[in-house]
Amino acid sequence: MNTLILRNAQLVNDTGIWRGEIAVEDGVITEVGPSISDVSAMDLDVCGAFVFPGFIDAHVHFNEPGREHWEGLATGSTALAAGGGTCFFDMPLNSDPPVLNAEELNRKRRLAEEKSLLDFALWGGLCPGHADAIDEMAEAGAVGFKAFLCKSGMTEFPATDAATLREGMSRAKRWNLPVAVHAESPEMLAGVIRNANDTSMRAFLNSRPKEAEVAAIRMACEIAGETGARLHVVHVSCAEGLAVIAQARTAGVDVSAETCPHYLLFNADDAVRIGARAKCAPPLRAQEDVEALWRALLAGQVDTIGSDHSPAPPEMRTGEDFFQIWGGISGCQHAFPAFLGELRRRAPQQFARAAGWLAANPASRFGLGKRKGRIAVGFDADFALVDFRNATPIEGKTLLTKHPMSLYENHRSGCHVIDVIRRGKFLVQRGEIVRTTTRGVFLRPSHE
Ligand SMILES: [Zn+2]
Repeated sequence: MNTLILRNAQLVNDTGIWRGEIAVEDGVITEVGPSISDVSAMDLDVCGAFVFPGFIDAHVHFNEPGREHWEGLATGSTALAAGGGTCFFDMPLNSDPPVLNAEELNRKRRLAEEKSLLDFALWGGLCPGHADAIDEMAEAGAVGFKAFLCKSGMTEFPATDAATLREGMSRAKRWNLPVAVHAESPEMLAGVIRNANDTSMRAFLNSRPKEAEVAAIRMACEIAGETGARLHVVHVSCAEGLAVIAQARTAGVDVSAETCPHYLLFNADDAVRIGARAKCAPPLRAQEDVEALWRALLAGQVDTIGSDHSPAPPEMRTGEDFFQIWGGISGCQHAFPAFLGELRRRAPQQFARAAGWLAANPASRFGLGKRKGRIAVGFDADFALVDFRNATPIEGKTLLTKHPMSLYENHRSGCHVIDVIRRGKFLVQRGEIVRTTTRGVFLRPSHE
């Protein structure tokens, strides 16, 4: 007996879009076709809505344990669910302590099993002096290992030098797991000449040039090439960085690239206008860079799109000194719909590819591709239903994050999340979070 049937849907997979129906039993898709003859107690006509595979956000910082006052697993996963997410991968920082060993990974896992609305995977950390813990974290089910090539801002999560990166990659390769890097060259950042009295947003933006990002990406690609490890470059903000990754891939390096909706939707002038909510690293770039990033995305140089949701309390996000104000984009609730809204405006024929960037690719790249990321028989019934009817400004009062502060406030998004279903259960219905005691499942990667 099917527990749920969705009818009259426009189903979107990375392979194409078609009009059809979906049947679900016990949280798993049992049938997909033009017309399902069975009936179900929950038999829904979705009136032609687009049904995407649920957004798999492979890059969030929910900051628990230790910094629940910044976000937390309950609020973070709820906000992401409202934004079409059904699954997230939490970064090893800014939880405190960070995840640098199996004990901390297991602790975060237990907390998420207790509090998360969504399925989740966990990144381990790679820092100097901790590379040998990769083995125990891999055994505990880490989805991969994250390193910062420049300062992370957290003293407990120091920058990884080339030797540590090499050692970490060699170990990660034995497990077939990726190493993810925040790529900005510390030497090049240190070499930027600036007026110390100018602490404006514009001065901050100029202090983190594209060249520093490109140089670090090149270095990471070289070490990935030497070690044969899988490399994932997170939040690539410029087309020049993607070009280096494309070249390395052509040369046989196993490298993938992530970008974030904020680099595709906002530019440096927006950062100056919006202020602290738009501070991030790498920073928002010039409009010509935004355009080049779109061209590179549509040319196939991006593998995954993640929110890099990284909030902090409002008191850390105020002041006049943009070098001191804490950075990070709070945006997991709107990354998916705002991106789709803009994609529809720029390239309306590309929804199938969006289902790749937002779901199928993160699933397959990170070893979840047998159950997640596609609308197909045998896959988990994780869906985000969206419509594109009217563009309305996003209001602060609708934010479900711990702090009602988001880069996307006042942004006019042309896409709205109507319903979200995880393993066959509604988490969001008609735009409202459903009260539920259901909890997410820990996802362990499988690379065969
Ligand atoms: Zn991040």
